[in-house]
Amino acid sequence: RVNRSDFMHALDEVHPMYGISEEELTSVVQNGIIHFDAVVDEILNDGRLFIEQVRTSERTPLVSLLLHGPPGSGKTALAATIAMASEFPFVKIISPDQMVGFSEGQKISTIAKVFTDSYKSPLSVIVVDQIERLIDWVSIGPRFSNGVVQTLTVLMGKRPPKERRLLIIATTSSRPLITEIEMSDVFDSEIRVPPISDARSVETVIRELKLFGSETEYRRAMDKMRQAGLSGEGRLNIGIKKLLSVVEMARQEPEAVADRLVQSLMQLAPPSGIIV
Ligand code: ATP
Ligand code: MG
Repeated sequence: RVNRSDFMHALDEVHPMYGISEEELTSVVQNGIIHFDAVVDEILNDGRLFIEQVRTSERTPLVSLLLHGPPGSGKTALAATIAMASEFPFVKIISPDQMVGFSEGQKISTIAKVFTDSYKSPLSVIVVDQIERLIDWVSIGPRFSNGVVQTLTVLMGKRPPKERRLLIIATTSSRPLITEIEMSDVFDSEIRVPPISDARSVETVIRELKLFGSETEYRRAMDKMRQAGLSGEGRLNIGIKKLLSVVEMARQEPEAVADRLVQSLMQLAPPSGIIV
């Protein structure tokens, strides 16, 4: 008879030996990826190419990639999705959420340990999430942890040992900051993760999330969006993260779903209706 603990044990055994932290990664992509625009597939595809480059090219044992874009545009979820799709034996995320209350020294050693651990695996991906928060960036001042910046700069630029290959995917909501802290040169490539700017993407998301029970209700909501002037290119400026929460909020009011939705989108639309 096989009981639960045998089962869990078996799972442990099939786990790669290098200490993958899949739980952490799966939790950031809990809501999945919605293909609301061609750019989503382009980003995932670029990610796949970098994974293949690290897997196959002898000359590039270290590749690093920066995903940047406004808050909530989906950077972390995309980085984690690319990382997990690699199926490399070592996949780990370094996130400020894991380091709440850490001293600078503790942060530095936590970050360093992830890199050292990765060197035990022939193929690794490390997601360095939200650089601006990792370094405790404060725009007034401006202040940040120079120790963490130096640690990241050194480790991210360091070739892994012989026969070891590493892909680093970093994220930030503040691209200019990367230049300011002189980390731009660390990255081999940069990908912008844009916010949602058109009603068509919103429609795809709403369909995917089955916000409306019937096609008629859905059509009526789309008409409302059009009447509110939200349709057309560049009328919106909303991160997918925010849109998901707007949709879930609208769902809470079954008798006024469409109105709620349009109202929230209006509030979030840029004042001029055009993204600057
Ligand atoms: P922050 O600036 O706060 O760090 P972020 O840009 O990292 O935010 P995420 O935390 O990745 O954004 O939030 C995006 C959310 O939207 C996740 O819950 C993710 O599952 C969901 N999502 C749905 N479709 C997509 C998509 N195409 N791309 C990215 N995320 C998506
Ligand atoms: Mg993020």
